[in-house]
Amino acid sequence: MNQPAVTTRRVLTRRGVVWLGQTCNLRCRFCYFQARIEAKDHPEHPFMALDKAKAIFDTLRNHYGNNAIDIQGGEPTIYPGIEELCSHSATIGLMPTLITNALVLAKREACQRLKDSGVRDLLVSVHGLGKNYDDVVGVPGAHVKQMAALDNCVAVGMPVRFNCVLTKSSLPHLADVARLAVSVGARAVNFIAFNPFEDQQKGERSLEDVAAYSEVAPPLVEALDVLRAAGIEANVRYFPLCQVPEAYRQHLYNFQQLPYDLHEWDYASWSWTDMKPQRTREGGLSPLISLRQANFRSPMYKGVPNYLDDPNISVDDEYRHSALIRAREHCGYKYGPACAACGAQDICDGFHGDYAAFFGFGELAPIAAPSAGPITDPRHYISQQRKTVEPEDAGWAL
Ligand code: SF4
Repeated sequence: MNQPAVTTRRVLTRRGVVWLGQTCNLRCRFCYFQARIEAKDHPEHPFMALDKAKAIFDTLRNHYGNNAIDIQGGEPTIYPGIEELCSHSATIGLMPTLITNALVLAKREACQRLKDSGVRDLLVSVHGLGKNYDDVVGVPGAHVKQMAALDNCVAVGMPVRFNCVLTKSSLPHLADVARLAVSVGARAVNFIAFNPFEDQQKGERSLEDVAAYSEVAPPLVEALDVLRAAGIEANVRYFPLCQVPEAYRQHLYNFQQLPYDLHEWDYASWSWTDMKPQRTREGGLSPLISLRQANFRSPMYKGVPNYLDDPNISVDDEYRHSALIRAREHCGYKYGPACAACGAQDICDGFHGDYAAFFGFGELAPIAAPSAGPITDPRHYISQQRKTVEPEDAGWAL
């Protein structure tokens, strides 16, 4: 197996994303698509036809220039034709990753078939361990199957990365999830704040699952220490910068930092695949849209004269504008009163939309501005992080 290189160079990601349909073999309590997974008559519930999925992949490769893709379902390993789709993806130069609970891969031959179809790696959702995991995903025996699947990945040489959502139930397990990542040779671990995204914006969130930032930080730092000691890339998504000590801020990716994570999604192609026609079984595909055109639809930029053809707006600016729209308009992130005195406010999203209603703004801890003035470069902290670069990306990312 080719080993990835590491770098502190930050460049824009070329990874796309697709949702094949919200059909799943688990029922995670914190799922962002919970309602669509449950409702069989929801237009996004059924898997799309293979030809439509291939057309989306071709567009990401040929129009948006993506060279990798995160394939989501629901659960993509139960998608009929997943091996043919992954084979097509690898053939056109779009290296496929499956975002998966991996339960299907408890059968070694299923794991081997995916490996043989050209899957580059798996991003396995490890949201806790043991009975705790079974409870949170709603299926008894799920943890045992997931561990068997990870054993199979090691046996067949399938690279893995981990996703772990920071719900209250996962906090006691974070360090052990990190140790598990070390033991199976995971190439990266992403800890993801439990946000009010998609179906979770509709009021189901409660204190049963939502933890205060100050509850999350100690076990999170402990897990980061485990991964740092083992030299494994660790990313923390959507966590306010002031909520961890400065030495750990290199791991924190708010919306302005995400485009510089090669394991995250390209805002340009994401703006297109996120449109309903690309997420439903029925119908054709939407007209193509550039990131600048997508930004211009937002009230934040709609009134800006010449926004669409202003030569002074760089590509990095376009991604930053998209980040601000995503944080403030799509997800309702908010600054508290103390943020006004923070030297990092320009590059931080603040607290997630409904957080203050649960816990208030008392945990805010404004960061002192450096002597040169407030921090304005989104890469200020993440430029210190050593990130893995897959061999296929080495020519442009190193
Ligand atoms: S802007 Fe607010 S939430 Fe972000 S680091 Fe500063 S004080 Fe914390």
